[in-house]
This record gives sequence, structure tokens and C-alpha cells, in this order.
Amino acid sequence: MLLFTPGPTPVPQNVRNAMSDETMHHRTPEFEAIFEKTRKHLFNLFGSDEVVMLASSGTGAMEAAVVNLCHNTLLNVNSGKFGERFGKIALAHGLKNVTISNEWDTPVSVQEVVEAVKNNSDIDAIAIQISESAGGLRHPVEAIAKAVKEINQNIMIIADGITAVGVEKIDIANIDCLIAGSQKALMLPPGLAILGLSNAAIEKIGKGRGYYFNLATEIKSQRKNTTAWTAATTLTIGLLEILETIERNGGLEKLYEETAARASAVICALQAIGLHIYPKTPALSMTTVDDENASQIRKILKTDFGVNVAGGQDHLDGKIFRINQMGLIAPYEISWVVNSVELALAKLGRRDYDGTANRVFNENYFKLAGK
Ligand SMILES: *Cc1c(COP(=O)(O)O)cnc(C)c1O
Repeated sequence: MLLFTPGPTPVPQNVRNAMSDETMHHRTPEFEAIFEKTRKHLFNLFGSDEVVMLASSGTGAMEAAVVNLCHNTLLNVNSGKFGERFGKIALAHGLKNVTISNEWDTPVSVQEVVEAVKNNSDIDAIAIQISESAGGLRHPVEAIAKAVKEINQNIMIIADGITAVGVEKIDIANIDCLIAGSQKALMLPPGLAILGLSNAAIEKIGKGRGYYFNLATEIKSQRKNTTAWTAATTLTIGLLEILETIERNGGLEKLYEETAARASAVICALQAIGLHIYPKTPALSMTTVDDENASQIRKILKTDFGVNVAGGQDHLDGKIFRINQMGLIAPYEISWVVNSVELALAKLGRRDYDGTANRVFNENYFKLAGK
């Protein structure tokens, strides 16, 4: 079965092998050496002033960011389930919360955020997804961050990059906290989250807030190549392996180029067989199609063609399907995915099969990826 859900993503064989060794004790020079190397790679990946690894799923890092960087009112952007979550975290911690909501296919505009910030001087942090995985859309986070910093330099910008870090190069010039999770673009099992922090964020964190997710405690330990609590040793070993694998495969630039080429070629292929792309500004992390037969297409893909793609949640349940684009993906696999979608449409009597999806994908991919 080809796993093509936008998280979890498949874990490469060599990474699984690296994680199959005997359990290591975390307070040892051996593990500290692994931790140090992993940190070096993460500084390269994030480009930030500091990085922190947490033993938690991505939501833990979202909570750590909100608790430590928002001390008054959080402005969050809700164009889907993950954006909504930031608001819930703020309220759960007794913070005030302002939300800008849009339909799940619609990115927030710079103007909407600027207005919200100007209307409420209590807002001291903004939380937004770079890629909102609920509908697969890309928010203009960099432009928003720039505009907000021009109004008030002290407002913290928290960017959820769980389906963006490792997908595309992110301009962090005005971002204070960038979040990644292991099971999406980093091709690992779930359970590890990473935050990239700016010096301004570290200043605001001060002594930190919370206990398990107190970022001051973690920063202090991790600068010494250890963790405050027991490290997710196995996942850290896996993370080092995947980051080294990316390097061996030509580095981050090549990964970003191939991901962009693949995402674009898949859109061309699916549009060529009459399908509609759901988000107005598609993220590179996944391709989302809205279709009245979305459920049937997913079912046929799974049972007849060995392809597992994701559906939608809440009001998009049964209305969309989402194809992963994150990670090191062989062209012959994604080529089979779009071909399977075309075969599914033929099975549903929507369109005679003529190999258009596969042809259009390959024409575009190999042109764009410079192969
Ligand atoms: C998956 C995801 C999360 C949540 O991460 P968990 O690991 O499930 O806690 C948050 N934000 C985005 C954009 C995601 O795709």
C-alpha cells in the first residue's frame, strides 16, 4: 500500500533501520553527540537563532509556543482545524483570544490581520499556519509577519510549519517561532516536535511558563546538548538519519525543488482529467481536490490500486481528498497515484481512461525538476 496521506508520511527504510538499535540512555556522551549533530542540522533547516526539540506531537509545540510567547491576547487565524486549535490552546490557558475565520479554501489576507492588530492593542502574539493542512492551503505568512512587525515589533509571530518545514524554504526574517513535527515533512514516526526561535522570542520567554513545556528550561538544557526531561532518543536518532539522508540526496534546495515540481505537476495532471483543486492558494505540502465522489474515489484508490490518500474532516468529510507531497517521494510512486485517480474516474463512469493524468504529470514534472 502506498501511504500518500499528508501525515503520517512513509518512513524511509534506512531511517527505520537506524531507529532499530538498542535503546540508548539519554544522559550519556554517546547520545549527547547525536543530539549535538542533530541540532546542527536543525539550525540549517530552520535558519533560526535557536532550536528546541520536544518529546510530543506537533500540538505540544503549538501549546509550548502559545504559553511561552503569548502573555495577554492571541490572534489566531482559523481557515481550518489546525488554525482553530491555536485559539483553543490560548483559551485553555486563560489567555484572551481573537480569531479571524475564513472558509477552509480561503487564506487570510494581510489586510485582515493588520486591521485586527490595529483594533486591539492587547494582541501580543499571532499564531498562524504556513500550510493549513485541513484544506491544504498556503497562508501569506511572511507578508503578514512583515506587516505586523511594521506596526509593532513586539508582537510575537508564531508560524505553524508542521506541513511547511522541509517542504519549502521559509523566509523567517519576521517569524519568532517556527514549528515542525516529525510525522509530516520530516518522514518520521509521530512523537517529536521542533521549534525554531528568534532572539526576540528568547527574550520574551524569559524564565518561561508552564512546566513540561517551559521553553526556558529546555533552551538551557539543549544548549548543553541534553534535554530537561527524558529525550525521545529513538526519534532523535531517526531525525539525524533523515536529515543526513536529505543531505546525501542533494540537500534541502533539491528537496524543495522536487517538492515544488511534484506539487505543480500533480495539479496539472488532475486538472487535465477535469478535477478541481480546492484551496484558492494551494500549499506545496499536499494537493487537495474537492469532488462529489471524493469518498468513492478514495475507496477505489485504496481497494483497487493500493493507494492511501486522506479525506476531509468536519464539514469537508466526504467532500475532499488530499494527496501528500511531503518528503522524498519517487516520481514513479506519485505517477501511479495520479494514474490511479484517472482509473477511479473511469470506474465511476465519469471519463474514459486514456492515460492523460500520467502523461501530463510526467511532461510537467520532468520539465520542472530539470531531469
Ligand atoms: C498535523 C498538524 C498539526 C498537529 O500535529 P499533531 O502531531 O497531530 O499534534 C498541527 N498543524 C498542522 C498544520 C498539521 O498538519
